This record gives sequence, C-alpha cells and structure tokens, in this order.
Amino acid sequence: MPLRLTGLTRTELTDLMVQWGEKPYRAQQVWSWVFVKLASSVEEMSDLSKPFRARLASEIAPLRPEVVSHRVSADGTEKWLLACEDRITMETVFIPETSRGTVCVSSQAGCSLACPFCRTGTLPLRRNLTAAEIVEQVTFVRATLANRGIRVTNVVLMGMGEPLYNLEAVTQAVRIIMDGNGLAIGCRKLTLSTSGVVNRMEEAGKNLNVNLAISLHSVRDTVRDQLVPINRKFNLAALKRAALAWPLRGRGRITWEYVLLDGINDSEQDALELVHWLKGIPSKVNLLAFNPWPGAPYSPSSRETMLRFQEIVANAGLVTIIRDSRGGDVGAACGQLAGDADLTPPLHEPLAHEESSG
Ligand code: SF4
Repeated sequence: MPLRLTGLTRTELTDLMVQWGEKPYRAQQVWSWVFVKLASSVEEMSDLSKPFRARLASEIAPLRPEVVSHRVSADGTEKWLLACEDRITMETVFIPETSRGTVCVSSQAGCSLACPFCRTGTLPLRRNLTAAEIVEQVTFVRATLANRGIRVTNVVLMGMGEPLYNLEAVTQAVRIIMDGNGLAIGCRKLTLSTSGVVNRMEEAGKNLNVNLAISLHSVRDTVRDQLVPINRKFNLAALKRAALAWPLRGRGRITWEYVLLDGINDSEQDALELVHWLKGIPSKVNLLAFNPWPGAPYSPSSRETMLRFQEIVANAGLVTIIRDSRGGDVGAACGQLAGDADLTPPLHEPLAHEESSG
C-alpha cells in the first residue's frame, strides 16, 4: 500500500524525511503543502525540487479521496460521498452557520451498532476508516470550500460509525487535525460523539483533549435498550459513571444528544426524568428533530412537543438547544447517512442545484 501523508503527524513526517535522507526542513515544506496550502497533488508543490517531487509522486498515495457524489441542500448543507482507494465509501457533511462552518466526518464505513432511528445503522460495518481517510475528509472539504471563500472552523466526529470502535485511528486523526501549524482546529472546536461505548471512554478521555457528545435519547433503560442497543451492554448507570469521569476543561460540559421521537421518548414525564438523571453532571442538552428516511420505524415529535420538552429542561437550569434538522432534503441530516445506499438512484427528483461528479 502506498504511504498516505495525510495520516502522519508532523513528527512522523519529519522522521520519514530523515529516513529518506532528506534535510528536516523538507518535512516542514511538505507538511505546509498538505495541511496549510491544502495541495491536491504533488505537482502543486512548486518549491520542491523536481527529483524530490518525482519521488513523492511515486511513493505516496493521492492526497484526496475521489468524489462520487455531491449534494447541496436548500438550507446550504452539503454532503459528499467520497470513495477510498478500495472503493469503500464514506460520507462527509458540511453545515454552514452564521458564525461557524462545521464538517461532520465519518469514522467507519457503515456501523455495527444498529440504532433503529439511524439510517447508517441499517448498513453493515464495512471497515474502520484509517486516520488518513478521516483527516482527508477535513482537508478535502476545507480546500473545496476555501475556493468559494467559505471557512471550516469546527469538526465533529458524528458521521457514519462509532468513533470509539476505531479509537486508534481516531486518536491519530485528531492529533493531526488539531496541530496548530496545520489544520489548527482547536480542542474547543472539535467534538467526539459516542453512543456510549463505556469501556473505551476512559482511554479516549486520557488521549483526546476534545469536547464529548453522547447519544442519550432516553434515561429509561427499557427504552434506551431499544433506541441505542449498546445500552444492553453498558446501561445508563455505567454511562453516567463514565460521563462523570470524562476530563472536562474549565467550564466545559458534556453534550447530550436527544432525538425526539413521537410517542417514544418525548413526554413531559420523559423531560422531567431527563432533568433528574442529569443532576450533578455538567451538561448541555441538544434536542434533535428526527429526520425520517424511507422505512424508518419512527415519526418526528411535533414542534409543540419539542418546545414543551425544551421548556421543561431549560427551566431546570440546563442549556437546552433545539437543533433544527439540516440537510434533510439531501439525506445529509443526523441519522440519515446511508453510504453506499447513495449509489442507488435518488429517492426524489434532484434539486435544481444538486451536483454530481460521479
Ligand atoms: S447512531 Fe451512530 S452508533 Fe448508532 S447506528 Fe447510527 S452511526 Fe452507528
């Protein structure tokens, strides 16, 4: 397998250049081309000698994944289906907001956890993504949007897959993404999301200085057993212990993701129980509108129900935000990512501004 520069930390790249018999400053030049100037190929690296560029071109893998499809939502959210070298696909979403631009990256192709409200959960796990493949989702989106004058400021590991089941690659990718001399996404701008893989949270907390979001969706074990099947292995009590042990910085908080499903977890009683359960944990609650997909076994809660739920949780003094669905018209919203399923014909007439490169 050719070497992927996008999967190397700055130190590893320096070591590689030394191994190749190059001067250490070469590493800084190459690093800068890959992570600052966001070169798409070795040919662009104009200040490198021709023989050195030829060596790089012959020994390293392409710097970018291949774009299979690209869709743009009416609300500005964009979704790319990207192909890795072995044709496995990964989905990456960009969510523009007034004060920030967030890339949502995948950590696995497919997912093994089968949460029934999530379309990714209907796909088998193909494989873990490598650190380079995770990083390239960020370099690709940042470079693509920079050409249009749009900034990428935040990264969330909330795309396809459970990041803690690919912890080694995720840890390496996070180190690369956070490097202040490169992509420079700071720890406050980077969020790792987990469905509650309790036995890996301690290790993740030690190695990764990032924000943590946890998919909660219910504080009753009987309900969460259904919605987040990993709860049968690591129940709510275990999850709470692991959340309390997560190293929060300063005034940091755990973000709890709670998708509101009609008649399942959206009653006033559910809201009160949530408030009670969160007592003693520095918390912020994100209430998510359910994004239906064909065959989904749930319906979204009404707007009125969502507002009432929010009111109860907010009245208890918790920061509670309703995260409106973004990108639902192009299958880019939370819980809608379906990877290879996108290679099948679209389920609706393409939008006027929908593009495809594949
Ligand atoms: S919600 Fe996350 S962990 Fe659950 S099936 Fe979807 S991608 Fe996997």
